[in-house]
Amino acid sequence: MLHVAENKVPRSRYPVIDVHTHFAWLARSEGPNAADGRLKFLATPEELLAVMDRKNIQTMVNLTGGYGAGMEEAIQKYQAAHPKRFVIFTEPQWHRLNDPNYSQFQADEIERARKAGARGLKVTKALGLYVREGITTGPLVKIDDRRLDPMWEVCGALKIPVSIHISDPEAFFLPIDRFNERFEELNNHPDWSFHGKDFPSNRELQEARNRVYARHPKTHFNTLHVGNDAEDLPSVSEWMDRFPNMSVELGARIGELGRQPRAARKFFEKYQDRIMFGTDAVPPPEGLATPQQIFGDELYEIYYRFLETQDEYFDYAPAPVPPQGRWRIYGLGLPDKILRKVYHDNAARMLGMAR
Ligand SMILES: [Zn+2]
Repeated sequence: MLHVAENKVPRSRYPVIDVHTHFAWLARSEGPNAADGRLKFLATPEELLAVMDRKNIQTMVNLTGGYGAGMEEAIQKYQAAHPKRFVIFTEPQWHRLNDPNYSQFQADEIERARKAGARGLKVTKALGLYVREGITTGPLVKIDDRRLDPMWEVCGALKIPVSIHISDPEAFFLPIDRFNERFEELNNHPDWSFHGKDFPSNRELQEARNRVYARHPKTHFNTLHVGNDAEDLPSVSEWMDRFPNMSVELGARIGELGRQPRAARKFFEKYQDRIMFGTDAVPPPEGLATPQQIFGDELYEIYYRFLETQDEYFDYAPAPVPPQGRWRIYGLGLPDKILRKVYHDNAARMLGMAR
């Protein structure tokens, strides 16, 4: 029965770079990746461009670009065919972890990928939660494993960013019961739970990631999903203060930011040069499995409304809602100066795009 203003925002106030999307991914993208590196393309460039033009999206970054021939195909099909509109990142080859000389091989592969056109490295939560010493068996590989040092270093040397997803929402590490604030989501996706078994705690994963940031100060780490602790902005702020080489993006976390609009607004004011627009968008039908990620007009309109208006108590995702936690959100009403940086300028700088 709440009567409040509803302001539709069909186009963003400034051109958008969406730094976190998945319009292509490895045919087997969960867990340690498939050896053949084949990619699945979830939408054609034309299908994506139609939405992008309507919604004022200048560029979409596909993080899950794989490696080798699959990655090169993605670069040709999207990035080379439509420069400025699409950017492709590369990924590590976890299935080779036990090859002799893996450390150097992985660093060299990133250099080759860069020469082929890849514009950054994506590291999924497979690191820390899926990849094991025996690839799929044995103890989990630590995020700060020394074998990965050359991989982080080469990204700094090549001046390409690492987009890194470490850990997951705090609720995913707690029992799936009536006290869990994401009960419905975990009940729909029980495999997203990292409670029990031999999984490290959320905090242990974050601390291992922080040791990597400290060890590689010349490498830029864009920490996805607001550092994957948007529920705890005091901690994310502390990390941002400690690591100048850390930035964040918003993908699939406006539900968290929008339930604490006053703290979130302060966070945007303080870190306005290090926050990037991202959605984690996935084209349908795959995107339908996670309603907070369905690529399309509606998803972008919700993000724009959250950032630009002071609307109160609205849904943070397309229907059926609520996909994450059972609450609604409040708009931040950010000023133009911050909007321009978050929508575009911070990402353009990270990606080395000319203004
Ligand atoms: Zn993602």
